[in-house]
Amino acid sequence: DSKAVIPIESLDSLSIKSFPLCMRQLHEFLRSTHHLKHGGRLQYGLFLKGIGVTLEDSLKFWREEFTKVMDLDKFEKQYSYNVRYNYGKEGSKKNYSPFNCLKIINNNVGPGECHGCPFKHSDANVLKNKLKGYGFEQQALHDVVDLAKRGHYQIACSKYFDVVHSSNIGLGINHPNQYFEESQKLLKG
Ligand code: SF4
Repeated sequence: DSKAVIPIESLDSLSIKSFPLCMRQLHEFLRSTHHLKHGGRLQYGLFLKGIGVTLEDSLKFWREEFTKVMDLDKFEKQYSYNVRYNYGKEGSKKNYSPFNCLKIINNNVGPGECHGCPFKHSDANVLKNKLKGYGFEQQALHDVVDLAKRGHYQIACSKYFDVVHSSNIGLGINHPNQYFEESQKLLKG
């Protein structure tokens, strides 16, 4: 297919405008700690492949972050395999699909990990503070957190989409990559 290539230089701004919260928080966590545990690398790595980041760019992206906290040799030995694996270049060479919401929501997320769906896995106060930090107004913040608390994770995500895009679409969301595509469609008109 003729999907556009997404340059890694645009990931910071895309994470704000067009990533669902599950991916935005992984991106921010990676940028601030220069590391993600396995579950996060898998969830975020496959998402990036899905939006159109090439294997070469992915390797560069992860390498640049990880080598801020480890030497290049360690990265190449322990982590570049993972990145290539996500692109079906190692192991069974399967072309792995990015995870859908159901899979992400049903994932186990342990302490110190930041994958999963924040509407399911984040503590309500953590979620509240995060959205406040993003500039959400009181009512919007309350609506999203309340939906999440009541177990309506994907509807909370849909509300998040509308707040971020100043829209009122009420999109049915079942996949982070679908979220991304809908956002790009909307922003590009
Ligand atoms: Fe990500 Fe889906 Fe959760 Fe939205 S509902 S944050 S897209 S896992």
